[in-house]
Amino acid sequence: MSHIVSQASCTLPISGGEVRLHVFGRERNGPERVIAAVHRTERGADCDPLVRLHSACATGDILGSLRCDCGSQLSAALDAVLESDYGILLYLLGHEGRGIGLANKIRAYALQEQGLNTVDANVALGLPVDDRDYTDAAAILREFDVVRLRLATNNPLKIAALEAAGLKVRRVPWGGFVTPHNAGYLQTKDYVLGHLGSLGPVTEPSEPLR
Ligand SMILES: [Zn+2]
Repeated sequence: MSHIVSQASCTLPISGGEVRLHVFGRERNGPERVIAAVHRTERGADCDPLVRLHSACATGDILGSLRCDCGSQLSAALDAVLESDYGILLYLLGHEGRGIGLANKIRAYALQEQGLNTVDANVALGLPVDDRDYTDAAAILREFDVVRLRLATNNPLKIAALEAAGLKVRRVPWGGFVTPHNAGYLQTKDYVLGHLGSLGPVTEPSEPLR
């Protein structure tokens, strides 16, 4: 279990509602690692949270890149969190480029311009295909006293990582953020990385999001 501390928190009004914002790191004044946006109503006092683990993506989240589906996933995740009686978005800062960092991701993009897919480009650079670690996320959920959760994901690795940390996870289907620019990337995620239905169509959750 990773050592994680809450560095700061505040209430933050955002488009569509208000969240409680927490910043987490390994030590109080060390580098920030995770931003948590939590929405909880009175009715959310005794329900399992809807959780989304979002890997930071400067190109998708900030610039609205159509090369991936991160920007639309992030805004859909925030909407879902705000619509839930108890929703938690964990924004994982160290997960840029599936953990290889921004510069390496852009190097991989340059190779993809020459025809490699997202996996083969990383391999050509001698980098891991997926170097993300979810121990911080699991530790933060524990900090929030979460034992059971509904995880909005198509990524089996996220489910396995949280379950390995002792959390009880129920999956809420997630995906369908397809554009002409990211269809090949999403196809690779489904067929090479084993994701469950990134290509959509947008699937209805197994139960209404609360
Ligand atoms: Zn992205």
